[in-house]
Formats: sequence, structure tokens, C-alpha cells
Amino acid sequence: MLIDQYLNVKKNVENACKKVGRDPREVTIIAVSKTKPLEMIEELRKNKVMDFGENKVQELKDKYERISWPVRWHLIGHLQTNKVKYIVDKVALIHSVDSVHLAKQIDKEAAKRNIREVPILLQVNFAHEDSKFGMDPKDVEEMILEVSKLEHVKIKGLMQIAPFVDNPEDNRKYFKAMKQLSVDINNKNFDNVDMSILSMGMTNDYEVAVEEGATMVRVGTGIFGERNYSI
Ligand SMILES: *Cc1c(COP(=O)(O)O)cnc(C)c1O
Repeated sequence: MLIDQYLNVKKNVENACKKVGRDPREVTIIAVSKTKPLEMIEELRKNKVMDFGENKVQELKDKYERISWPVRWHLIGHLQTNKVKYIVDKVALIHSVDSVHLAKQIDKEAAKRNIREVPILLQVNFAHEDSKFGMDPKDVEEMILEVSKLEHVKIKGLMQIAPFVDNPEDNRKYFKAMKQLSVDINNKNFDNVDMSILSMGMTNDYEVAVEEGATMVRVGTGIFGERNYSI
């Protein structure tokens, strides 16, 4: 059963927390439901799973409109500025903000719709992979200075998509680097910036990410099974 898969992930998160002396309540598991049918989301929701992640604006919007239970939607994929308007009033958190331009668009659309505050994460590319979105770690502070001026956007932390590796230990250094960056930023006490959320770790490496301080893990395959993109 689907909920058993979820509970298995939860248990692994708890064990990873125990290993390093963290409180498991600090970690939110986001069930990444992209490509999966609404029925699966509703089945988990009936078992009190609240947080779901989608990487495409259209799919998130469709599911938002069709689902019969309220859930917290997380946009975890790349967001184009021209699509902000479709989701700004539907998401609990946007994980994938990687430019001032995009943050300004979110601010503008939020103001238009009287949304007081849209929580966002800054997506950082620690492994410098060309194929991935996200900003260079050295540009993060400059971005924070700009984005923290926006009235309707609130920085809540950082997000990264680590490389796809066979051995999750290979990503530990990137998780450590993100934790360290969040501590450095916190120490600078920027106004209107909070670093409480670290979104890192996927099916392949979430336990290592939790050991290194993740407060949100994004797990798709580990809960829903393999995705089939051909249908
Ligand atoms: C698809 C996706 C995930 C989940 O990937 P799995 O390996 O299936 O757990 C997590 N984060 C992002 C940004 C994704 O697009």
C-alpha cells in the first residue's frame, strides 16, 4: 500500500535523525507526486499526509483544482516568470527561485492578488552542474539583499537538487555546504530573511541529507514508485 511506502520513508528519516541527535519533527517529508494520478494523492491525504510537491505549473494547477481535500502544494521545479500568475495563490512554498527577476514577478503577482506574503526558497547549485537551475553559491548574498526588499516575498531558506549519483555519500559535501551557507547567512541577520528551511535530499539520498540538516526532503519514487513518462 502507498501509505506503507510513505511510512517506510518516515521511519528512515527518523533513523537518520536519531543517528545525529536531531528531532524528527524538524523534518517535513514532501511527497513528490509529479506524473502520478490524483487518486494516489488523495489516498495519502486520507492518511493525513499534507505536503505534496509538483515540478510543473500546469500539473500543479490541474491537481489543485481537482483535489477534494486541502493539501499544501510545493512547487519544486523551474518556474518561468510568465507562469507565476497561475500558481502564486495556490502554493504553500516555492522552492525554486533562482533570480531576482523571478522574485520580483512573484512579488508583483502577489500584490495584485492581495496575497500578503509568498514564502520562497532560493535554489542554489552547489555542484555547479550546467544541466541544473539554481544560482552560484557566491551570488546568494547579493540576491538576498535585493529580494529581501520585496514586500510580498519572504525568503524562508535554501533548496538544492544534488547530482544524481550511485553512492549517496558522494552528495554529503553538497548538503554540508548548503547547511554552512545557511548558517553564514543567518549570522549576518539580514532583515526579512529567515533560514529555517533547508530543502535537500531525494529518494536516492534523503537520509544523508537529513544527517546534514535537511528540514524538507522531496521524495517521489521512494513513495509512489517509478515514474512513467511515456504515457
Ligand atoms: C522529481 C523531483 C524530486 C523527487 O525525485 P525522486 O528521485 O523520485 O525522489 C525531488 N525534487 C525535485 C526538484 C524533483 O523534480
